[in-house]
Amino acid sequence: MKLILLGAPGAGKGTQAEVICDYLNIPAISTGNIIREALKNGTEVGLKAKSYMDEGKLVPDEVVIEIIKERLAKDDCKNGFILDGFPRTVPQAEALDAMGIEIDKVIDIEVADEKIMQRLSGRRVCSDCGASYHTMYKPSKAEGVCDKCGGKTVLRKDDHPDTVKERLSVYHTQTEPLKDYYEKAGKLQIVEGQEEVKDTSALVIKALEA
Ligand code: AMP
Repeated sequence: MKLILLGAPGAGKGTQAEVICDYLNIPAISTGNIIREALKNGTEVGLKAKSYMDEGKLVPDEVVIEIIKERLAKDDCKNGFILDGFPRTVPQAEALDAMGIEIDKVIDIEVADEKIMQRLSGRRVCSDCGASYHTMYKPSKAEGVCDKCGGKTVLRKDDHPDTVKERLSVYHTQTEPLKDYYEKAGKLQIVEGQEEVKDTSALVIKALEA
């Protein structure tokens, strides 16, 4: 199955992508993670993306389209995939169509902006292994230390409140129109994000089977 997860930053797409990945045994592909990895490795793509990312803006379409083209050409995508964080603009969705990729379903996870502000400002990620925590909902055992690898947990630069506001504004103007795009194509399924991750997962699985 070829799936797209839509939703604002912080709506829980990454977590649900992992759940679907285990459920359907297809890879979850996050353009955000690919870009962060490129940045860590100091590649050209990483350098191009850095300033946009730090300011909460979208990386130019041609850069992310190239990234996704390369990723989807890999063998593990043959039986399907879950896209988390791509497409984020109508031209990106059109590029996907132009690649001849037939998407089966688009699941949009809806969470109110205020809730997202609260979630992202409390999010902490391990700077070594990328594991995710939350100061209120999922604290690490020792403050500032990753439970999994002992690395340092930090507030992502783009999770600072002002940057989150910018990311939400970018989401509403540039990404939200995709709901209409996929609604018209008869592919959109809306899921209301719940307080508990497992409750959202149950709704996501239901939407997959609908
Ligand atoms: P994420 O982890 O999905 O929130 O992505 C983090 C950042 O990476 C975003 O705020 C953008 O700067 C960049 N990014 C990730 N995916 C895309 C995309 N499809 N289009 C443009 N920029 C992207």
